[in-house]
Amino acid sequence: MRKRVLLHICCAPDATVPWPALAEEGFDVGGFFYGGNIHPEDEWEKRRDAVGRFAGLMRGDAAIVPYDPEPWLGMTRNAASEPEGGERCSICIGVQLNAAAEHALANGYDCLCTTLSISPHKNPGGINAIGADKARAAGVEWLCRVGRKNDGFKLSVSRSMKMGLYRQNYCGCVYSMRRSEERRGL
Ligand code: SF4
Repeated sequence: MRKRVLLHICCAPDATVPWPALAEEGFDVGGFFYGGNIHPEDEWEKRRDAVGRFAGLMRGDAAIVPYDPEPWLGMTRNAASEPEGGERCSICIGVQLNAAAEHALANGYDCLCTTLSISPHKNPGGINAIGADKARAAGVEWLCRVGRKNDGFKLSVSRSMKMGLYRQNYCGCVYSMRRSEERRGL
């Protein structure tokens, strides 16, 4: 019987490389979208819809957590001014992967993995260390993968364009949205 892996999905475009790769490795893949870090709600809706559509294209399912940003805002408030890739992101990644690990345990998954390591703006070593901790605590196996290897990010851009998936221009939270607006002079 194939092992079941829960793939934590930060956004649909980033899942276009790891989901098929895990399926090719022989895993039965299911998706999980946390989304409490996303701001504002209509942005969350676009990303939720894209995740649902992508899972359908993969002939699979993705669990979607109902939108509730307050817990995430509370946990990251003291690190609001951190740059992308800093302490706020470590907290954010921990919150997301903890929710994914709990979902994996509650729903009988054998393994856990994430799309986050495809980003050129994140530290894959840090992501895998946090994921391994959360998976261990939940009693599931962590699949250590580096999505951005072998031009993974470029491939995700071209695949998501071909699939017509919504692609955002900031990481997700209110702080990254403001940073992106500043960079674009808005
Ligand atoms: S920049 Fe991205 S990873 Fe970092 S805190 Fe915001 S949403 Fe989370």
